Order: sequence, then C-alpha cells, then structure tokens
Amino acid sequence: VFKVYCEGLFDGNTKLGTIFVHRNITKEFEVDRIKSEFVSTVSHELRTPLASILGFTELMLNRELKLDRQKKYLSTIHNEAGRLTDLINDFLDIQRMESGKQEYEKKQLAMLLIIKKVIELQKVHSESHELSLEFLGGRDFVIGDAGKLEQALTNLIHNAIKYSPEGGRVGVVVFEKDGRVKIEIQDEGLGIPPEALDRLFEKFYRVDNSDRRSIGGTGLGLAIVKEIIHDHGGDISVKSQFGKGSTFTISLPVSDSQTV
Ligand code: ADP
Repeated sequence: VFKVYCEGLFDGNTKLGTIFVHRNITKEFEVDRIKSEFVSTVSHELRTPLASILGFTELMLNRELKLDRQKKYLSTIHNEAGRLTDLINDFLDIQRMESGKQEYEKKQLAMLLIIKKVIELQKVHSESHELSLEFLGGRDFVIGDAGKLEQALTNLIHNAIKYSPEGGRVGVVVFEKDGRVKIEIQDEGLGIPPEALDRLFEKFYRVDNSDRRSIGGTGLGLAIVKEIIHDHGGDISVKSQFGKGSTFTISLPVSDSQTV
C-alpha cells in the first residue's frame, strides 16, 4: 500500500514540473487492520458470554426459583464463565508465544498417546461427530511439551468439528515419513476458500463467508497452533476444497534419543 504526495514546482508563475513522493505504508496499514480486527473480535466475543452471565444472574436474583431451575441457570453461568476464561487464556498465550516468552517443558513423548487422549476428550464434548484415528506405522516419538502439543491438536480437532455439519466425520491419520512424525487432521466440512489459505494462520484472521458467519471465534486458534508447532521445530500446512473439506498436516521431527 502506497501513499502518494503530489506537489507542483513553480518558478514564479512558470510550472517547472511536479514532484511525486511515494511512501510505502503497508506496515502502518497492516497494524491498523490488525488493531481494528482485534477490537471488533474482543468486543463481540467477550460481550456475548458476559451478556449471558448478566442475564442469568439477574433472573436468579429477582425470582424465587425452584432448585432445578437454579441449577440450570448456574450451569449456564459456569459454562459462559469458562468460555471467557478460554478466550482470555488464548489472548495471553498468543502474546507470550509471539514475544518468545513461552516456556516449554520438553521431554520425549509418544505422539500416539497424546493424540488418543485429545480424541477421547473431544468425543465427550461432541457426540454429534464421528472421530477416528488411524496409525499407518513408523516411529511416533518426539521431543515436546505434552500440554502444549495437546493444546495444538485440540484446536485443530475442535475446528474440524466446529466447521463441519452434524454427523460429519473427522479422521486423524498418523505416520512417519522422512524422519518426521506426520499428523493429518481431515474433515468433510465447509472447507476454506482458496483466497483465504494464505492468511489462515495470522492472528485474528477469520474467514468472512456467509456459510460460517454465525460460528463464533477469535481467529486465534490457528495462530496459536502455528506458534506451538514452530517452537517444536515442526511445520503445519493445509489443503482444502471449498465446500468439501480440509486437511491440516502437522510435521514434527522424530526423536530417537531419551535425552532432551
Ligand atoms: P476461529 O475458529 O476462532 O475463527 P482459527 O484461527 O481457529 O479461528 O481459524 C481461522 C479461520 O479458519 C476460521 O474462522 C475458519 O473460517 C477457518 N477454519 C479453520 N479450521 C477450519 C476447518 N477445519 N474447516 C473450515 N474452515 C476452517
């Protein structure tokens, strides 16, 4: 993005020429865009659970409620407070990771065990989708922080579910290739428009398409995944057919040694 300043050069009344100054303002433009995306995401995503918490606490304060109603409202308030906590943790995580202040407790891990744990947990939350795991062979040891790798995988599997219709299948495929543990997370959901692929891992970026406008989110999930995977010497890539589904592939170096 360029800003152009233009000024005429005169000697008395005689025009000698015109000076054009081009200033590259791509960076300022980008910072402004990220700021406004941040403000609109924060206000929307924080206000929704807060409105619900305020509404239900008011109901509880103003009425004589039966115990089962009280329990129902309290459980909604609890869930919404949990949502707020997750959001704030995501903001803090991305900030820590981007400034290089994230500390990792790395040791040798069997990735398959971590993936199985994440899938089991996701199954509890989303009975409406079919989750499967396939291991095609090879080594699955990596050096990493179990909690952070779980967080990355949870974000990817959660997205696969969130952007797929009910009853959709989500498959995780694991194999070793060229000294790397490859983990593919495949879904048959909404897919990603080709023009969005380049920006998908940017923080606060969300695909603005009519097919997903009602699905909430901050645009931080994939940015966090990318930071975690890069901090483990790994890569992440995505292939998608818009309207048909997506496959996210993580690749992490295989570890043979028992020492970090
Ligand atoms: P969020 O889900 O909070 O918007 P993410 O960073 O996790 O943020 O994802 C960024 C965008 O990428 C989402 O808004 C969504 O449109 C798109 N996306 C991510 N994963 C998938 C997927 N599995 N299928 C389709 N679209 C996806």
